[in-house]
Amino acid sequence: MSVLSVKNITKVFPGTTALDDVTLSFESGKVNALIGKNGSGKSTLVKIINGAYKPDNGTLELDGKPLDIQGPADAFAKGIATVYQEMSLIPGLSVAENILIGRYETRGAFVDWKRTYAKAQALLDEMGIDLPIRETVVNLNVWQCQVVEIVKAMSFRPKVILLDEPTSALAQHETQILFKLIRELKKKDVIVIYITHRLQELWEIADTSTVLLDGRMTGKVPMEGAKTGDVLKLMFGDVEVKSRPADLAISEETILEVKGFTRKPWFEDISFTLKKGEILGIAGMLGSGRTELLRGIFGADGVDGGSVILDGDRIARPSPRQMSGKGLAFTPEDRKSQGLVQSLSIKDNLCHACLDKVSPGGFVDRKLMADFADRQVDALSIKTTGTELPMTSLSGGNQQKVVVGKWLNACPKVIFFDEPSRGIDVGAKQQIFQIIWEQSRCGISCVVVSSELEELLEVCHRIIIMRLGRFVGEVRPEDVTIEELYSLCMGGELR
Ligand code: ADP
Ligand code: MG
Repeated sequence: MSVLSVKNITKVFPGTTALDDVTLSFESGKVNALIGKNGSGKSTLVKIINGAYKPDNGTLELDGKPLDIQGPADAFAKGIATVYQEMSLIPGLSVAENILIGRYETRGAFVDWKRTYAKAQALLDEMGIDLPIRETVVNLNVWQCQVVEIVKAMSFRPKVILLDEPTSALAQHETQILFKLIRELKKKDVIVIYITHRLQELWEIADTSTVLLDGRMTGKVPMEGAKTGDVLKLMFGDVEVKSRPADLAISEETILEVKGFTRKPWFEDISFTLKKGEILGIAGMLGSGRTELLRGIFGADGVDGGSVILDGDRIARPSPRQMSGKGLAFTPEDRKSQGLVQSLSIKDNLCHACLDKVSPGGFVDRKLMADFADRQVDALSIKTTGTELPMTSLSGGNQQKVVVGKWLNACPKVIFFDEPSRGIDVGAKQQIFQIIWEQSRCGISCVVVSSELEELLEVCHRIIIMRLGRFVGEVRPEDVTIEELYSLCMGGELR
């Protein structure tokens, strides 16, 4: 058996202690899960183990001997392989070429393709994986690429393999294929370190789970016989859920009604109503279909069936143009690619959803545009020195506010927020919540999707729970604890 030990590791970034005197160990022949909520320090620890970061303090040991790592190449040479979420494959090459890149079999000065392909095939066979080795990577789907990454990493016969959230982009059945491969790794006496924040996976794939919370190691649990509640306590500590302001009233009037909404396999038979001023949360684990549902209602994707009534009008086939025209706004999860035009100025982005208002008579009125932009910069306290600057000059939190501001300029009646706090700091997060509450005060309704369940408890009036594409329950934040909500999302009772 082989052991990787992390001893008294501390890593400080300006303003944050990402890791605070962390001591823990990972063993071979096991799947060692490393878990913790967003920002708890998981990726930082991965980067210290694989040489991308130097710790401020502390040491690493492999089998009791000091492991001194001088950088990524050195870590790799010492048997530490990393499979990242963002892939490193070359799209134009075949599966086999990617796996063996730089190490093709040669005869004289020429590549011996026959032997190269045979070698790649042998590696796949060894891992029990069936993939077309001659296929170009660009034609593979996400899970197949992930598998190629892992086989490539394994071809170097590493002692340690780090998998940083490999399932985050995968659907349920694809995850299963990956798990099969990971169980195969286990048999090879490799130290498998599996990073995830998807709690429900632990019981399925991990042998032990080491938990980080705000840069500290809070515990290590053998999964055999572990209860959900035990792991949750280590992940969240004693959470203090701040509550939403008391003055946010919900009107009796319905603004949005969704009936029997279906788009297989993403979601099925979804029905709910939303009142004026109401903030509705949709809770669920990754892959539960929440984003797809919002996109379906907004008309960004076609659906198989169901109906939407928005502000009294039944809409047979929603399209984004029609829905936004009727007062539905959508701030998407991936604001960089879907919410904003990075090459345009802050002002242009802020006026993007209200071009009709700033161009009376068909011509853009620059003065009106400036007014509309300034209004949102003020209202949302967007931190910038000028609205003519490009979007890229703003921080993540301020970019998120521009996405919101763009829609506020169009005077919406309902706003969908998909993961509004992803990738922004704590301060900006609180400001986004303030903005959501302010909408409610003005009678505008909001639907919020977030993987951070404690956020939903803080922000919403009501939370619907979605699991595998279906609504399975509904709670009020004042009636549940964070542990109960997690457990409901995962389909379990509190164990
Ligand atoms: P996780 O992977 O568990 O989500 P991370 O290790 O990415 O967490 O982050 C831990 C903390 O360190 C967070 O507060 C994050 O904002 C901060 N952090 C991570 N990387 C950097 C960096 N390069 N510069 C500054 N702060 C960072
Ligand atoms: Mg991470």
